[in-house]
Amino acid sequence: MELTNLLGKLKMDHLEAQLDVVCEQAAKRELDYKSFLSEALQTEWQGRHLRGIEARLRLARFPWVKTLDQFDYDFQPSLDRKQVRELAGLSFVERAHNVVILGPPGVGKTHLSVGLGVKAVEAGYSVLFLTLESLMTRLVRAQHENRLERSLQQLTYPKLLMIDELGYLPLSRTEASLFFRLVVRRYERSSLIVTSNKSFLDWGEIFNDHVLATAILDRLLHYSTTLNIKGESYRLKEKRKAGLLGQPRAEAENEEVITDA
Ligand code: ADP
Ligand code: MG
Repeated sequence: MELTNLLGKLKMDHLEAQLDVVCEQAAKRELDYKSFLSEALQTEWQGRHLRGIEARLRLARFPWVKTLDQFDYDFQPSLDRKQVRELAGLSFVERAHNVVILGPPGVGKTHLSVGLGVKAVEAGYSVLFLTLESLMTRLVRAQHENRLERSLQQLTYPKLLMIDELGYLPLSRTEASLFFRLVVRRYERSSLIVTSNKSFLDWGEIFNDHVLATAILDRLLHYSTTLNIKGESYRLKEKRKAGLLGQPRAEAENEEVITDA
């Protein structure tokens, strides 16, 4: 059988596409048989690996892709970069622990969670990013259509589920109990990253029910790391740099509320 035909049958698309280059390189470097075979197979493996990352990145549905390397830690001194580095090692995903990122608007909560999500994707984990609003729409619709069980099951599948923006919208009792069911499902099985602009004390208001909020926090925080960012909005810094804002803090904070509301 002809070589390209054989590679096609073996589904070695990447090697097939780069066959000439691989062979030329091998000839140039006078590789022995074993080294050549190793190089050729590595070409195929590398291609598959990258394709897997691209597919998982698409499935993760990040709002945008930013990495932890793009995060400016000097701008956010309240954030412990050692703690972020530790999280980036992903042992929390391995152990099904959670991460909660708290802080006012614009301090980089979504950026950090997406950055950790990208790391997890690169490491081969299945990841899904949802805003609280889209999560709720999904669960409430599933409940109306009598397929809540299946929907909850699907949401337990990603090894890392990210729920962004807790606290902007208060939840109804029904929504809060759906959120609780999801947290219970994932508890000790797979990780959550939750971001919120509200401190834990205010979660009773988010969930419209203090008992339920306590039960949610109990499971969420049992095995977890909390990053509490206390700094200034990065969005404001950029506006200020562009000369769109003055220096006074009170004015700046008002502007931020308008931007993020
Ligand atoms: P939050 O989710 O806390 O409201 P975001 O993560 O959406 O904030 O950050 C707002 C914007 O500012 C994003 O474009 C983000 O990439 C950027 N950003 C925030 N903090 C930093 C930082 N410390 N270094 C670099 N970019 C940052
Ligand atoms: Mg955000």
